Amino acid sequence: MVRELGHTFSVRRPGMNRFRSWYELRMKDDKVLIVEDDDDLRDLVRTVVEREGMATIEAADGREGLRQFYEHRPRLVILDIGLPQMNGWQVLERVRELGNVPVLILTANADELDKVRGLREGADDYVTKPFGRQELIARVEALLRRASDGQMRDDLHADGLVEIDFSQRRVTIDDSELDLTPTEFRLLAALARHPNQVLSHDQLLEMAWGDSANRSRQQVKLYIGYLRRKLVDAAAEDPIETVRGFGYRYRPSATKSA
Ligand code: CA
Repeated sequence: MVRELGHTFSVRRPGMNRFRSWYELRMKDDKVLIVEDDDDLRDLVRTVVEREGMATIEAADGREGLRQFYEHRPRLVILDIGLPQMNGWQVLERVRELGNVPVLILTANADELDKVRGLREGADDYVTKPFGRQELIARVEALLRRASDGQMRDDLHADGLVEIDFSQRRVTIDDSELDLTPTEFRLLAALARHPNQVLSHDQLLEMAWGDSANRSRQQVKLYIGYLRRKLVDAAAEDPIETVRGFGYRYRPSATKSA
């Protein structure tokens, strides 16, 4: 397939989608993000993790945690649930939209424990407070080991049109990087994770904005428009179909012509 890309032509060979291993990905960024509002506890976790030879980044509230996550794309997240600004569940949802980085959840009480939801085998684990150093180390190591055993390969998505590296938050089309805003990225990520499936406005609001309560369908329409324009500019095709009255469906070229 030959596709015009600005002034250059690039030939796309079938099967050239590269799936780098989790090892290779994580080599780039070997940091652990600690999101905990209790200063003493955050210090303790940091000391334990650093003693294991890993660098740390810290945040004392949920929003800051997410900001650090976007910026540093850490190898592991240690996440408290009871946090100011945004609680741990909200942070976890956003983190999950971007890929499969392992998350160790710190729960404070039995009520939270009852609600330990969204835990995915191999991707998440939890410890209940108070916990000892040894328990924390054991959990961290177990998560990292499972991660590097290759159970989390869906950090990468590739179809006939785009390649998405969720952990690096990069989208490439024919090896050129597409410049997307965080919202556009989350929208594309949501669509690409559900190819050929109609997603409603509300579903997209949930997935790309994290809530649908204070948002409107107009907003989805607007951002779909931005995203479309960028995709069409880069790939000369529009993979997003409008399904009138329902929402949108992502159909990359490879699926269409198949
Ligand atoms: Ca807390």
